[in-house]
Amino acid sequence: MTQSQSGQRIMAIPKTELALITGSANWGMRFPEDITLPGVSVLERDVAFETSHGVTENWKLLEFDGAMTPDGRPRRALCMYSHGNPRDWIDHSCHRRAFAVLAEAGVRRIVASSTIGALNRAIRVGDFVINADIIELTQTPYSLLPGRQRFDCSGKQIVCPSCADVLSQTARRHWPATARVYGVDSGLVAAHAYGPRLTTPAEVIAYRNLGADIINHSIAPEATLAREIGACFVPCAFVTAGFSDYFRPAGVSVLQEGVLEGLSPLASRVALEAAAALPRGEPCLCHSLKSEQPPDRYLRV
Ligand SMILES: [Zn+2]
Repeated sequence: MTQSQSGQRIMAIPKTELALITGSANWGMRFPEDITLPGVSVLERDVAFETSHGVTENWKLLEFDGAMTPDGRPRRALCMYSHGNPRDWIDHSCHRRAFAVLAEAGVRRIVASSTIGALNRAIRVGDFVINADIIELTQTPYSLLPGRQRFDCSGKQIVCPSCADVLSQTARRHWPATARVYGVDSGLVAAHAYGPRLTTPAEVIAYRNLGADIINHSIAPEATLAREIGACFVPCAFVTAGFSDYFRPAGVSVLQEGVLEGLSPLASRVALEAAAALPRGEPCLCHSLKSEQPPDRYLRV
């Protein structure tokens, strides 16, 4: 097969150790084409890949100029818009196919962009948040782990502290002074609930009582599957709904007007600059938090 169902060219999966997952933080724009950032090139767009879980479409292959990278050498990144894959209907299993591509590519570091709602009164609309932990009540139903209990995946350090440091330093250079940048050292917790429906007031109270500070509709499959492929993961997110916005009258939108449009170009730039600046080739503790089980556990049945 050389073309996907919607006519996209099916490519061989390129080898690269870097990936960007885009989402609601980049909604309504061509990412990265609409961000005028010298040194970022789009080598491929609208290409598809075959995986053992099916064909996955709408990929881009980006290249960062050596001027943007820590070692002065150009680097490539795979890029997929997770809320629009496929483009015409919601399919939560898209993440399994996407991360099968990233595993095959040899990806070791992933930046995932999204918008979030605040479940904590201290976190305001417009704030940039790198949470430290997640609450995913069901775990991902779309695991990529091969075999029967062949691997053990730790839930610790689900967000990579060294990637988060690069991202927070980048965000602090660009983010408006009227809002805050919360780094991973703030220890904030993101609850996950699959979208597209936004969070109900009762769910806001429930997740808040469970200890979550923000709500995110895409982070859990991304973070969990990153762990399953042995990659570092860092979320790049900003707040579009404040805590009290969930409790306003039904006719008032929970999403504050103009916030997405105002901050998404900035968040996109931060994601690109930080991704280019992430370490390359260096081992990280995240890479060893997926470990093989002793053979007896899956061979003796
Ligand atoms: Zn890491």
